[in-house]
Amino acid sequence: MYEFKYQRPTSVRQAINMLAKDPDAKLLAGGHSLLPAMKLRLAQPKHLVDLRKVSSLSGIKEDGGTLVIGAMTTHYQVESSQAVKSKCPMLAAVAAQIGDPMVRNMGTIGGSLAHADPAADYPAAIIALGAEMVAEGPKGKRTIKADDFFKGLLTTALAEDEILTEVRVPAMAGKTGAAYMKFPHPASRFAVVGVAAVLSVEGGKVGKASVAVTGAGTKAVRAKGVEAAITGKAADAASIQAAAEKAAEGVDVQADLQGSVEYKSHLVRVFAKRAMEAAAAAVK
Ligand SMILES: Cc1cc2nc3c(=O)[nH]c(=O)nc-3n(C[C@H](O)[C@H](O)[C@H](O)COP(=O)(O)OP(=O)(O)OC[C@H]3O[C@@H](n4cnc5c(N)ncnc54)[C@H](O)[C@@H]3O)c2cc1C
Repeated sequence: MYEFKYQRPTSVRQAINMLAKDPDAKLLAGGHSLLPAMKLRLAQPKHLVDLRKVSSLSGIKEDGGTLVIGAMTTHYQVESSQAVKSKCPMLAAVAAQIGDPMVRNMGTIGGSLAHADPAADYPAAIIALGAEMVAEGPKGKRTIKADDFFKGLLTTALAEDEILTEVRVPAMAGKTGAAYMKFPHPASRFAVVGVAAVLSVEGGKVGKASVAVTGAGTKAVRAKGVEAAITGKAADAASIQAAAEKAAEGVDVQADLQGSVEYKSHLVRVFAKRAMEAAAAAVK
């Protein structure tokens, strides 16, 4: 028998108050990471605050050159949004690769980012795209850059009493292409390794490169070795191949059930090459 208190706020303010009043309270979004953890008794919250009735947290808006995605927006809504497809097609493609239709219809972008599973897909994309997370708590609202958001295994910069309310993703600039490539686990589709690349190309050369890796270690990280290696180089197959050789440099690759450090480092190089090739091909 598993007993817990269950509350369904209808506003962010109500949810913040519920969290503030009870240190044992935990947020519930799509439930597709938390409920499996509860079934395995890896998490045993005494109080669940379900965000599904907080309508202000769902949906996608455009604010100037920024896509504003509510934390409770499902993976399917991200995948099928015309705004996301036109302003940031890579993010729609990432959402479409998550799990299976059930997971994509229930799981939320905010739940995925707050959970910070080391094999989740969004984190690499969010870092490479230079997104920002908006958090709200008893002390008010603050913005956290994606580079500063993931702190370690299942750990983020969010405080216990904060709610991730929205994800702000800059629309793709001109002469820029982006792609995400992953080696999916054959059962869950989680990324054994996934690489997101955003390349700006002018006159055949890479002006700016933003590359991030998920699945390799305990958290998603920026791949600084490959970014430095491709910047200023020709956006062609030879330069991309040479730069991809540096993709695991500076990434704290960890062995796990999926493979050894050598194997996963190899996957980082292979998927960095594929992601950069696809990003270069997508430049408009
Ligand atoms: C079979 C299966 C396959 C999957 N495959 C993939 C995959 O291929 N790729 C992938 O990336 N993911 C995959 N997932 C995970 C899935 O994407 C989850 O939906 C996601 O990780 C968590 O989102 P959720 O909305 O379900 O969050 P929940 O499970 O409800 O919550 C997760 C955690 O985040 C916290 N939280 C939720 N919302 C907020 C918020 N707004 N602010 C602060 N904290 C919050 C909760 O308290 C909890 O600790 C898979 C899951 C399953 C069950």
